[in-house]
Amino acid sequence: MFDNLSDRLEAIGKRLRGKGRLTEDNIQDTLREVRMALLEADVALPVVKDFVAAVRERALGAEVMKSLTPGQAFIKIVNDELVQVMGEANDALDLSVRPPAVVMLAGLQGSGKTTSIAKLGRWLQERDQKKVLAVSVDIHRPAAIDQLQRLAGEVGIDFFPTEPGADPAATGEAALERARTGYYDVLLVDTAGRLSIDEQMMDEARRVHHAVAPAETLFVVDSMTGQDAANTARAFDAALPLTGVILTKADGDARGGAALSIRQVTGKPIKFLGVGEKTDALEPFYPDRMASRILGMGDVLSLVEEVERKVDRQQAERMAGKLKKGKGFDLEDMRDQLQQVTQMGGMGGLMDKLPGMGQMSEQVSQQMNDGQLRRQIAIINAMTPGERRRPDVLNGSRKRRVASGAGLQVQDVNRLLKQHKQMQKMMKQFKKGGMQKMMRQLGG
Ligand code: GDP
Repeated sequence: MFDNLSDRLEAIGKRLRGKGRLTEDNIQDTLREVRMALLEADVALPVVKDFVAAVRERALGAEVMKSLTPGQAFIKIVNDELVQVMGEANDALDLSVRPPAVVMLAGLQGSGKTTSIAKLGRWLQERDQKKVLAVSVDIHRPAAIDQLQRLAGEVGIDFFPTEPGADPAATGEAALERARTGYYDVLLVDTAGRLSIDEQMMDEARRVHHAVAPAETLFVVDSMTGQDAANTARAFDAALPLTGVILTKADGDARGGAALSIRQVTGKPIKFLGVGEKTDALEPFYPDRMASRILGMGDVLSLVEEVERKVDRQQAERMAGKLKKGKGFDLEDMRDQLQQVTQMGGMGGLMDKLPGMGQMSEQVSQQMNDGQLRRQIAIINAMTPGERRRPDVLNGSRKRRVASGAGLQVQDVNRLLKQHKQMQKMMKQFKKGGMQKMMRQLGG
């Protein structure tokens, strides 16, 4: 998602870099470009208008002129406004009611409701140790019920069977009763979807909602539908009091309009992103991280870029040789790279030395300061050589051991492993297209 928008915004920031300051004149063209970039990303027009007006006002304000160059200042403003548009902070599920907490999913057919039920069930069970029951009240489509039953079995949550021809609201009620008597923490309710909004579907959803009184009513929407996603959400919200949105298929090449429009158009927060067909492909939605991603400031990308380009070409070439021989980029290699960066005085120090890296310097050095680098190295050190070579063997108990060995939390280990995965992916591209191609992709 967002590839095009990212490219456009990045180019705009780069162009501003040579300018002395942000003025009414040079800001005019730039804002026009931002506006075009957002419209091309299929962001809803009112959102685009507000966005551009806010950027303009802040860009011309005195606050930005002092310490930053125009490129830096501009990127910072755009970043802040992107965060603002998407809702500022992550809105987690609020299940703090007397159990069982009901989570109802609604949306059009094919949006990813059933898949999202399985993902949520897995998430709640694995992460929060919740006891989860799932039910489908889509009595019109036996295939949908079968699909949920199969997925529930796959992720190991319980399934409440639906009587053929039963009433959806009554089915919801029966499932809720079972959840109560069975001491479930959460009941997940999959509802019927149609290909477009119709009154009967809305009426049915309303009755189910009334019967199960959900703590969370989430609207599931395919990000490929762009700004229409926001309009559909608004229509559902008129019938059902939605508490949030799950934006699915964010792994595809959607242009980003949905993610950038939904919050402003509906006032409802995006709570999760679906990022694949598998049941573990669910991520909480963090507007700030998404904004960084849109602006192409992912910390790992910058790290790899700089390490590869400036720090040690020899080592990069050794790595290339290794990759050619078919060996992967393992955690030993990652540690080597992290160590090189610390030797250079951390990411901040490194960036300062590099022309043209100004705009990223502040962001990156916050994300990748010395302490953080050292923590990452400590985590890798706490692993066995076998784990470093094949991180996939790190199951829950190994991760706990590694975390305590490094004096950190399991989530720190998970974060490191995720970064490693991203770096591995970069390395694969590197292997495919060689250094030049990778540098081009990195904008180097
Ligand atoms: P429902 O009709 O709303 O219940 O939709 P389904 O759960 O059956 O999903 C429809 C299709 O979208 C299926 O082929 C899913 O595998 C796919 N799908 C759902 N979520 C995602 C996602 O986040 N990423 C991708 N790539 N595919 C998804």
